[in-house]
Amino acid sequence: MPSLSANRHDIAVIGGGIVGLWTAFEAARQGRSVVLLEKRHIGAGASGGLLGALMPHQATSWNAKKQFQLDGLLTLEDEITALEELTGIDTGYRRCGRLMPIRNAEKRRKSDEWAGASHDAWPYPYRWMVAEATIYSDWLSPDEMPLGTNADNLSARVDPRNLVAALRKALELSGVAIREETTILFDDTRKPLLPDGTPVVAGHVVLSAGWQTFGLVDPEFAEPTGRGVKGQAALLKPAQPIDTAQPILYDNGTYVIAHDSGLVAVGSTSEDAFDDPASVDEKLDAVIDRARLLCPALVNAEVVEKWAGIRPRASGREPLVGPLPGFANTLIAAGGFKISFAIAHLMAKAVLAQTDDANPAFLPDIFLPKNRLKSLHD
Ligand SMILES: Cc1cc2nc3c(=O)[nH]c(=O)nc-3n(C[C@H](O)[C@H](O)[C@H](O)COP(=O)(O)OP(=O)(O)OC[C@H]3O[C@@H](n4cnc5c(N)ncnc54)[C@H](O)[C@@H]3O)c2cc1C
Repeated sequence: MPSLSANRHDIAVIGGGIVGLWTAFEAARQGRSVVLLEKRHIGAGASGGLLGALMPHQATSWNAKKQFQLDGLLTLEDEITALEELTGIDTGYRRCGRLMPIRNAEKRRKSDEWAGASHDAWPYPYRWMVAEATIYSDWLSPDEMPLGTNADNLSARVDPRNLVAALRKALELSGVAIREETTILFDDTRKPLLPDGTPVVAGHVVLSAGWQTFGLVDPEFAEPTGRGVKGQAALLKPAQPIDTAQPILYDNGTYVIAHDSGLVAVGSTSEDAFDDPASVDEKLDAVIDRARLLCPALVNAEVVEKWAGIRPRASGREPLVGPLPGFANTLIAAGGFKISFAIAHLMAKAVLAQTDDANPAFLPDIFLPKNRLKSLHD
């Protein structure tokens, strides 16, 4: 295998999750030569999960981060259509909407506020609405929504594994070099190295190694750059066939998502402390029990898979997208936390624009590492 230093690429992407895959694909579409370097295998991290919810923030207290996510939700459909046409892989994308049960008068008042705000913040025909319980009672248990339900028609879902498979195929078709089982580390001068110690020589390096990004760069900054938050999820097979167009159910951190396969994804835990990133335990069983209460179709459903992964949460919560202070020609695109699948394609465009010193107007200033991280080398 030729060494990467002898085989210089315009862009080296570190990490084959949803962010690295979109970044490598976008760079190839822009005509750049790209290598993707992945520690284990494509989709080995959080992006190889089960849920795939694409849900907007509430439209009150509008800000640049909410606008960025809205832009992501509005543009993803066309991106996915193009990807599916290129690869022939069905990603299981559908704009299915979402329900959030209303249990008390205070929540009902807030729901009306959110509905009103969506008229200003979201483009027609997307709206947050307040609906009566009876409309959805076959899918969301009426006992769980005594005062009706929030309903939006902007939320969507995608099968994470199918999307990852489609992006992988798109990279192969676009001539991107993919190197799996290749762990990248940074040397004392903050340059990336291959496992054999050879430097990664590329015009620019994009670091998108999910939650492990933070550990790679933390020693170079005054404060921790981020951390991992574990999540567990499951896939259930309902006893009777379901309507796979059903909206996402979301209630205080519990998700229920019908997929085209006829299986229903259920999640997820949110664990700041964990010993084993991959283990599943009784915390997931509690989430499954909760989902069965929300969704009558799951009462006798068989659990066909349990899964755990680690979400990348940057310090300050917002993603980090842009040049990494103190590192030469190295940019970071990480920290999508719970919404990466909705915004990864935009993070990709934003990070690549910055390799040309362009400052994309759609990127919130708060996402720029220079506004968040204090390098020890300034
Ligand atoms: C239970 C659960 C449910 C979730 N549900 C949703 C959801 O419904 N919607 C949503 O949008 N998001 C959801 N998320 C979050 C989402 O999965 C993550 O935010 C997203 O997958 C992160 O993508 P990433 O590309 O940043 O990281 P990852 O997918 O983790 O990819 C990083 C990759 O980098 C590789 N890597 C690490 N270190 C190195 C190194 N040194 N050298 C080379 N490669 C390296 C890893 O092996 C990995 O493949 C969920 C997460 C969990 C755990």
